[in-house]
Amino acid sequence: MSKDHVEIWNSCLSVIKDNVTEQGYKTWFEPIVPLSLTDNVLTLQVPTQFFYEYLEVHYIDLLKTVIKRFVGAKGKLEYRIPVDSANSSGTITLPSSNRNYPKNPIGQPAPQRLSEGPINPFVIPGLKKLQIDSQLNENYTFENFIEGECNRLARSAGLKIAKEPGKTAFNPLVIYSSTGLGKTHLCHAIGLETKRLHPEKTVLYVQAEQLSTQYVTANKNNNRPDFINFYQMIDVLIIDDIQFLSGKAGTQDVFFHIFNHLQQNNKQIVITSDKFPSELQGMEDRLLSRFKWGLTADLQSPDLTTRTSIIREKLHDNGITFPEEVIQYIASNVRNNIRELEGVMNSLMAQSLLNKKSVTIDMAQQIIDRFVRNTVKEVSVEYIINIVCEFFKITPEQMALNTRKQQVVQARQIAMYLSKKYSNASLVSIGQQCGKKDHATVHHACKTIADRLETDKQFKVMFADIEKKIALS
Ligand code: ADP
Ligand code: MG
Repeated sequence: MSKDHVEIWNSCLSVIKDNVTEQGYKTWFEPIVPLSLTDNVLTLQVPTQFFYEYLEVHYIDLLKTVIKRFVGAKGKLEYRIPVDSANSSGTITLPSSNRNYPKNPIGQPAPQRLSEGPINPFVIPGLKKLQIDSQLNENYTFENFIEGECNRLARSAGLKIAKEPGKTAFNPLVIYSSTGLGKTHLCHAIGLETKRLHPEKTVLYVQAEQLSTQYVTANKNNNRPDFINFYQMIDVLIIDDIQFLSGKAGTQDVFFHIFNHLQQNNKQIVITSDKFPSELQGMEDRLLSRFKWGLTADLQSPDLTTRTSIIREKLHDNGITFPEEVIQYIASNVRNNIRELEGVMNSLMAQSLLNKKSVTIDMAQQIIDRFVRNTVKEVSVEYIINIVCEFFKITPEQMALNTRKQQVVQARQIAMYLSKKYSNASLVSIGQQCGKKDHATVHHACKTIADRLETDKQFKVMFADIEKKIALS
């Protein structure tokens, strides 16, 4: 047998030694005997079943790290436990959670791995507390979830929940928005922060789709009660993309029971949806009415400031700089979807690293054309308002004020005119967004501006300046 496994295990031990207490090292690592290394699987002999369980619960992260480092990216771990010699002289082999996703004892398929966190998706015998893989993605934290007007309510509700899960009025917290605006990110951030503040709580992030698949399997295997029991043991249950349950009566029914149980026991529920709850088709009313018990908060398209912050944060994270004009260009042109904004940034950052030269507006334009332009054709009223306000050096709030100040009135009328020309919004909606005016006011504004464009040369020049900015987008 090759000696590799011994050498490799010794290398592992040298790192482990630096990362655990002396007592821990003596108790849990010295008794381990490396047995073999075949096909990237390092097999370790441990004295007892309890030993194995203890390692998997307390040291799995460290073990994963050293295995990755010394066996390689494909490295796996397997344990052998000598079977009581009175019965047999053999060994039993147990996979490490590092190796395969262990079968969930309640008969559901193992959830898809999303995070690099500890993996214990099964109830560990002898331990009181349920140990599960929370399925949280550690890259999605509150720290890197940029705060803006567009997400302030949902974000602060999320923080509050993480502080006091199940104890606030925000139960359930329903987060809704169209795609790419941060629902999933916020869910993970809530889960991670809850675990950080309350390590004893059992937190589970699950996509509604997974929930549904698990339920179908559990049903097939006559395991419905186990399925329900499992979910009823969770302290903070986060269900992403609930719209997936539309039309799935069975899963909705079972979720209704789980929901009630959790809520009665002051457990926290977080739900996301790509529609406002009452607009979810194919969802039972009794379930929808439950959602209203808590807080429904939306994530809106990010405003210019938030988009700029997201871009800066991304650059900062990657230690890259872009010329200011490029940052402004991207922020002005990728407006409705943060996922797209990230796609554009990743592409541009890769190009800048590859070519070792500075990113230009031309490059940004090409990438945006390729990734975004065809999906975002329409200019929003909000965007137009921002451009106009920027031009007149007033805030959108000031523009909305009910004042007769000439400059404000003029800005508002121009915003209305341009909104009619460039957005698909109705006159009613334009009026609402431009200071809660009615459609007749918008109509009048459009006529006023059209008249002035005919007669006032100076005005025409100024107007062209503003229009250019919008047409550029
Ligand atoms: P959704 O679930 O609503 O479709 P995601 O949560 O997947 O959206 O977000 C899409 C991408 O945008 C993710 O990579 C996420 O990290 C990023 N993102 C969304 N909102 C923010 C924010 N406020 N700050 C930083 N990144 C964000
Ligand atoms: Mg999502």
